[in-house]
Amino acid sequence: MDLIFLGPPGAGKGTQAKMLVERYGIPQVSTGDILRAAVAEGTDLGKKAKEYMEAGKLVPDEVVIGIIEERLKQSDCEKGFILDGFPRTVPQAEALDKVLEKMGRKIDHVLTLDVPEEELIRRLTGRRTCKKCGAMYHIIFNPPKAEGVCDKCGGELYQRPDDNEETVRSRLSVYEQQTSPLIDFYEKKGLVRKIDGRGEIKEIFDQIVKILE
Ligand code: ADP
Ligand code: AMP
Repeated sequence: MDLIFLGPPGAGKGTQAKMLVERYGIPQVSTGDILRAAVAEGTDLGKKAKEYMEAGKLVPDEVVIGIIEERLKQSDCEKGFILDGFPRTVPQAEALDKVLEKMGRKIDHVLTLDVPEEELIRRLTGRRTCKKCGAMYHIIFNPPKAEGVCDKCGGELYQRPDDNEETVRSRLSVYEQQTSPLIDFYEKKGLVRKIDGRGEIKEIFDQIVKILE
């Protein structure tokens, strides 16, 4: 099962991907998570990516394509993967096709999550992420049991530096301009499965499982 989650920042891709990981035992591959880890470690990759991420802009295609090529070759991706936050541009999608072709694989489904813009802003500005395990919460819509503490691992919750309203607005406009054309790209291949991203997290998950099964 080779899947892509496509949708604007805040649509719930990471939240749903993590639930699919638990259900199907295939990994979530998030370029955002990989880049944030590199920034935290201060590696060369992190140094290249930091400014773009803080400004809410896309990291250059060749950088993220290289990351994905390496990651998909790892053994845990053999049975499938869930791409979250990649591809984000047409050149990235074309490069992905080539990488998969070399591996004798292809995308099975592109799951799109649709959520109105004002709701995306509410979700992103209230998002809290666990420093240790990456679990996601929302201060109002999906709060942890104890404020600031991850239910799953006890790790500390933090607010991503790019989850402030100004950067969120620029990320949404980048999505409209550079990423939303991918819906058409994958429509032409007959791969798009549209999901209404509004409503309860569990109900959205049930819709996704129904499509996959
Ligand atoms: P993405 O990975 O698409 O950027 P996330 O999965 O991180 O989005 O979700 C963004 C924020 O919205 C998080 O704070 C998350 O807890 C919250 N969230 C996710 N799904 C829903 C939902 N169905 N209803 C309300 N809030 C949600
Ligand atoms: P995300 O965690 O998916 O919200 O991504 C956070 C930030 O990482 C984005 O705003 C970009 O700066 C960068 N990023 C993540 N994935 C990509 C990608 N596929 N292409 C370019 N930049 C990316």
